[in-house]
Amino acid sequence: MNHVDTAVVGGGLLGCATAWQLARAGSRVLLLEKDQINRHASGQNAGSLHFQLEYRMVEHGDDAARAAARALPLHLDAVRSWAAVEDELGEPCGVSRHGGLMLAETPAEVAVLDRKAALERRYGLAVEVLSGADLHALAPYLAPTVRAAGFVPDEGKANPRLVTPALARAAVRYGTVLHTGCRVTGLSRRNGYWELSTRAGADGGPGGTYRADTVVLAGGVWTAELAGMADVRLPVFPVGLTMSATARTAPLLPHLIQHVGRRLSVKQTAEGTVLIGGGWPAKLVSRSGRTDLEVNPELRYESLTGNLAAARVVPALLDLPLIRTWTGMTTLTPDQLPLLGAVPRRPGLFVATGGSAFTLGLTYARLLAGMVLTGTADPSVADYSPARFGALNFA
Ligand SMILES: Cc1cc2nc3c(=O)[nH]c(=O)nc-3n(C[C@H](O)[C@H](O)[C@H](O)COP(=O)(O)OP(=O)(O)OC[C@H]3O[C@@H](n4cnc5c(N)ncnc54)[C@H](O)[C@@H]3O)c2cc1C
Repeated sequence: MNHVDTAVVGGGLLGCATAWQLARAGSRVLLLEKDQINRHASGQNAGSLHFQLEYRMVEHGDDAARAAARALPLHLDAVRSWAAVEDELGEPCGVSRHGGLMLAETPAEVAVLDRKAALERRYGLAVEVLSGADLHALAPYLAPTVRAAGFVPDEGKANPRLVTPALARAAVRYGTVLHTGCRVTGLSRRNGYWELSTRAGADGGPGGTYRADTVVLAGGVWTAELAGMADVRLPVFPVGLTMSATARTAPLLPHLIQHVGRRLSVKQTAEGTVLIGGGWPAKLVSRSGRTDLEVNPELRYESLTGNLAAARVVPALLDLPLIRTWTGMTTLTPDQLPLLGAVPRRPGLFVATGGSAFTLGLTYARLLAGMVLTGTADPSVADYSPARFGALNFA
């Protein structure tokens, strides 16, 4: 039976990046993915690299914003990780950082923006609030109704179709054994190691039983199910999201656009398509009373019109045909903070999910690898530990 140092479960951005980090540090790594690499959230997302607090973090008031701001040290680390990743991998990932603008249209929104920027500066994020002529000179494509914007020069985008496959290739170059179409169905602690039972996934795969000293769960919306295999309950919830894309057009907007008062993300890809998202929900599909995680959520009409409302702040979008809308799923934790670290009372079991795990994924992976190899993480991940949900676990 194969025995490795670490088995990583999940071939999204988190799993591939963690496998890469561990393998390049010399570990023997097994990466197991039930479908294809990048098949789920990591390949379906908006590709926004947003380092400011998002709308969902400020919409519930100042206390909630202060709680979410505790993750800002991770955001600062992510700025550095994305600046370096293409050089480290030796291939393009579509990373471009021309800055991000978080818009405010009303006096109340401007006040939220000012408080948000003050909070972010306390954590060391470089953010400037622009208004009037300064803002419209930087972003002439914005509607005149936009009064102010929080500008973070480091924000931008990466191409979700390129990043995770590049990380997987790098992991394999460092010796990671990758099995796709291989679904983990059981996790048992034996004498000082973990035994992983698997079966061939929908795309066909090797199946079989594997041994590992440590296991990293990087299963996205399947995290609760995977943790359950080790008799651990983690409050990780799936949420459906909606994205839309326009036809290609000439370079229109170099920035990542978000809004401080409503759901919105807008950016233009290198190919000219404008992507619109920002957290508009999609309806999870239920079967026999349980959410079916294998099926993409259903589109909600209000979310499509929500996406289209992006034209209110970028009027040029009115002239562009919408060519595609899709849905995907991501994970949320009850406190909106990441879930990252060692699982208490399960020696050698680690987990990572939640938060903006595209933006923060490279950082989570570096920190996870550090914890697996040395038991330490810098910056500290104590605030994101699964231990905060210890009351759910009796054993
Ligand atoms: C529409 C949409 C837009 C988004 N936009 C952004 C954005 O702009 N910026 C941002 O930061 N974040 C964004 N996100 C969130 C981001 O995409 C996710 O947080 C991130 O991709 C999660 O990566 P992951 O590797 O944890 O999960 P995933 O990419 O879902 O990977 C998990 C993998 O685990 C595998 N797996 C699960 N169970 C098993 C098993 N039993 N055996 C083997 N394999 C298993 C799955 O098949 C899957 O491939 C968005 C998400 C969506 C859906």
